[in-house]
Amino acid sequence: MKAAVFHRPGSVTCDETEDPNIQSPEDVILKVTATAICGSDLHLYSGGVPQARPMVLGHEFMGIVEETGPDVHHLKRGDRVVVPFPVACGGCFFCQHELPVACENSNPKNYGPEGGILTEKGGGLFGYGDLYGAHDGGQAQYVRVPYANHGPRKVPDNLTDEQVLFLTDIFPTGYMGVLWGELKPGETVAIFGAGPVGVMAAKSAVLHNAGKVIVIDTLSYRLEKVQQLTGCETVLWKNDRDTITQIRELTKGRGADVCIDAVGFEPERNIIDRLKATVNFEKGSIKVLDACFSAVRRGGRISILGVYPVHYDNFRLGQIFDKGLTVKAGQVPVHNIIDRLLGYVEQGKVTLEDIITHRMPLSEVSKAYEIFDKKEDGCVKVVLDPWA
Ligand code: NAD
Ligand code: ZN
Ligand code: ZN
Repeated sequence: MKAAVFHRPGSVTCDETEDPNIQSPEDVILKVTATAICGSDLHLYSGGVPQARPMVLGHEFMGIVEETGPDVHHLKRGDRVVVPFPVACGGCFFCQHELPVACENSNPKNYGPEGGILTEKGGGLFGYGDLYGAHDGGQAQYVRVPYANHGPRKVPDNLTDEQVLFLTDIFPTGYMGVLWGELKPGETVAIFGAGPVGVMAAKSAVLHNAGKVIVIDTLSYRLEKVQQLTGCETVLWKNDRDTITQIRELTKGRGADVCIDAVGFEPERNIIDRLKATVNFEKGSIKVLDACFSAVRRGGRISILGVYPVHYDNFRLGQIFDKGLTVKAGQVPVHNIIDRLLGYVEQGKVTLEDIITHRMPLSEVSKAYEIFDKKEDGCVKVVLDPWA
C-alpha cells in the first residue's frame, strides 16, 4: 500500500509499504478514505518530538472497515467510521476513569526518568512514534486499528468525509480547551493560535455563548480566516508586551477570564539537527504560555492544548500562585466527547470542513507537509486522499 513515511526531521515521503494485518482479536483493518495533517505532526517533522526509526504517520483519519478480528462485535466489514486519535483499550484503570489518553495497554513501554520525556507507562497515539506506543498511523491507504470495539465511531451516510473527519482530533481538542477553561456564557476567552486547533477552539467558544472571543496569531491571513468563520476579534502578535496590552484593553484592564494556548512549544528551527533528529529544547520558546499567564485575569483559567514535550526552568509558578490561576493541560480524551460532538455536526450546530484550504493526493505528501509547516499558500488545513 501507499503510506506517508517519516524518515527523519524534514523528510516525509509517500512510500510503498507492507499492508497491515490483524494482530489481535479486537483489531480491525480500515481502508482509509480521508486523512489530515495536524500541527502535532509538525512536532515530529521538526524533530521536537524525537523519532529515531522510520514509521507511518497520521492520527486524523477515517474510512471503511475492510476486515475485523474475531472479537470485534461493534463493527462489521463495510461500516464507515471516524477514529479518535488516542489508542485506548476501554478496560484498564485509566480507560475506566475517562482517561483514554493514559491507557495502560496502548503503550507498553515504561520510560523511567532516565528515559527522558515520559515518566510512567501508558498513553498510545496513532502515528506518533515509539514514545507513544509505536502504532502505525492513518496517512496511508490502510491502517490497523487496535481495540476497535472501543474507539471507532460509525458515521451517518448523509454526512461527507470532510464534514466528520475533524471529529478524530481537532474539534474535540478545541472543544475540550473550552471545557477545561470552564468558560461560562458571557465570559471572554483569549485563544492563542489561529491554526486548526485555535479555529476549532473559537468555534467551540461560540457554541458556549462566550461574550467575547479574541484570537491571537503572528499570521494575518490566519486571523482573517478565523474572523470570517467565527466573527471573533483578532490580535496580530508582534511581541508579547503589545499582545498582553491589547488583550487587557479589550477586557476592561482585567485580562481574559480564560486563556487557551493552541500554539505549544516553538523550537528554534535553525538549531534543529535535521539528521540526528535532536533539538535543543533550551533554545525553544514557551513565550505563548508565558503570555497566557499575563493575559488571564486574577482567578482565571488556562487551558494548554499546544504540545510541550519537556520540562522548562523559569516556569511561572509565582504568577500562577499570585493570581490564583487554574491550569489544565494534556492530550485530549477524544473518546469522552466525540459522540456529543458528532451530534452537533448532525444537528448543523457547527461546521468543520470550512477550515480546509488544501486537498491533495497522498502521493504529494512531502509537498503537503512543507506547505503546512511553512504556512505557505494561505494554508490552514490539508486533507489527503490516499486513493487519488
Ligand atoms: P499549527 O501549527 O497549524 O498552528 C499553530 C498556530 O500558532 C499557527 O497559526 C502559528 O502562526 C501560531 N503561532 C506561532 N507563534 C505564535 C505566537 N507567538 N502567538 C500567537 N500565535 C502563534 O497547529 P495546530 O494544528 O493548530 O495545532 C496547534 C497546537 O495544538 C500544536 O502544538 C499541536 O501539537 C497541538 N495539539 C494538541 C492536541 C492535544 O490533544 N492537546 C491535539 C491536537 C493538536
Ligand atoms: Zn492532531
Ligand atoms: Zn486502557
